[in-house]
Amino acid sequence: MSQQRMEPASATLAHWSSPDGDPPTIVEGEGCYVTDDEGEEYLDFIAQLYCVNAGHGNGEINAAIEEQLSKVAYVSSAKHNDTRDRLADELAEIAPGRLSNTFFSISGSEANEAAVQIAREYTGAPKVLTRYQSYHGGTYGAGSLTGDPSTRAALEPYGGTATGKFLPPLPEAFDAEGEELAEKAANHLEYVIRNEGHETVGAVLMEPVAGTSGAYPAPEGYFERVREICDEYDVLLIADEVITGFGRCGEWFGIQTEGIEPDMLTFAKGVTSAYAPLAGVLVGPEIADNVREGGYDLGQTFGGHPLSCAAGLGAIDVYRDGLLENVRENAAYFEDELRELEAHDAVADVRGRGFLWGITFRDGEEPFVDPWTDPDADNPVGTVVEEAAERNVLIGAGRPATQVICAPPLCAGREEISDGVDALDAAIGAAFGRNDENA
Ligand code: PMP
Repeated sequence: MSQQRMEPASATLAHWSSPDGDPPTIVEGEGCYVTDDEGEEYLDFIAQLYCVNAGHGNGEINAAIEEQLSKVAYVSSAKHNDTRDRLADELAEIAPGRLSNTFFSISGSEANEAAVQIAREYTGAPKVLTRYQSYHGGTYGAGSLTGDPSTRAALEPYGGTATGKFLPPLPEAFDAEGEELAEKAANHLEYVIRNEGHETVGAVLMEPVAGTSGAYPAPEGYFERVREICDEYDVLLIADEVITGFGRCGEWFGIQTEGIEPDMLTFAKGVTSAYAPLAGVLVGPEIADNVREGGYDLGQTFGGHPLSCAAGLGAIDVYRDGLLENVRENAAYFEDELRELEAHDAVADVRGRGFLWGITFRDGEEPFVDPWTDPDADNPVGTVVEEAAERNVLIGAGRPATQVICAPPLCAGREEISDGVDALDAAIGAAFGRNDENA
């Protein structure tokens, strides 16, 4: 019996169902700008996925990769390579406090999975606390740690969340702000640790500034209390710096803007300015010894790939050469520009740190409903992303999709910042109707 054959559809599957219409096909990039296949130029106000921190087409990073390629392209991750070792030294130099040893991985998801494995081996405690709405990766294990329901949902039927325990998001769940929010949220963390049984909790995994969920910094004092609580109950504090690392918040790592030291730190994206895939876990000497002596295997073939490590060394040089200062010098200007958007009735809230900002929209007095939780909801937020692209500016859709995110390359100057915010202003006007104040 002849079977009817379907023509195979050929397409790249988008990495998630983004509500930003039909994004352009990008073929080139230079500094803060990318060009599509029709020659149209866009201001990249989201550094693609908050990762091209040094900007596109950086000659220094390209040269570092090419030089490595001319020496040796690949060396086993089970052996030593001079470039990989040099990057580990550089990371120890810029990392907070005692974090001096790096386990190299490939993606942020895999780095978080490795961090959890290391934490469990070190503490002997299985549970890991993360936050609802957080994003820690999309692979099976990291997806289980991700509080964002659109990622987690697909894993749930298979028991993918068996080891994660979720804390409520800040500030949404606490009906407080400032010091009161810091205290209530930290008390809640302590409550959960005590009720789970502190000896069963190996680690707390947190983003220093909550990235894809809306660029929310924690209230002042929160992380200090988290550090105290972790110390009191022998729980490891892991900072997920996949977005906040490498200058995004104005310091090498986001947790340095909070003045505390984590026990472990995971990184990816900006380590190479996204010129090649690389990620890793930074730990202090005691945990490093435990990994060395542990008798368990973390290795991945492409972890610490020499071409990626060369890109990492190149990117760190570029960050050292004025990009961190650029973020520090222009963060307040960026905030001032974005605050002007609050004149729109539809803008409920603007917040962020450094070059990572989120803007939440409202429907009258109420927030818009996330289309993930109600596909029939009338939510025009995705239109803002489309309208900004119509104006040749790329911004990101947050999760929940009631907000957008701006995170340009760290080389953006005042002109790019103001152009980006002007386009966003016009895009908001087009999506929601322009109110008188802003007309
Ligand atoms: N952690 C955070 C905070 C992230 O934002 C992301 C990705 N956006 C990840 C982990 C996962 O990284 P990757 O996509 O490289 O696996």
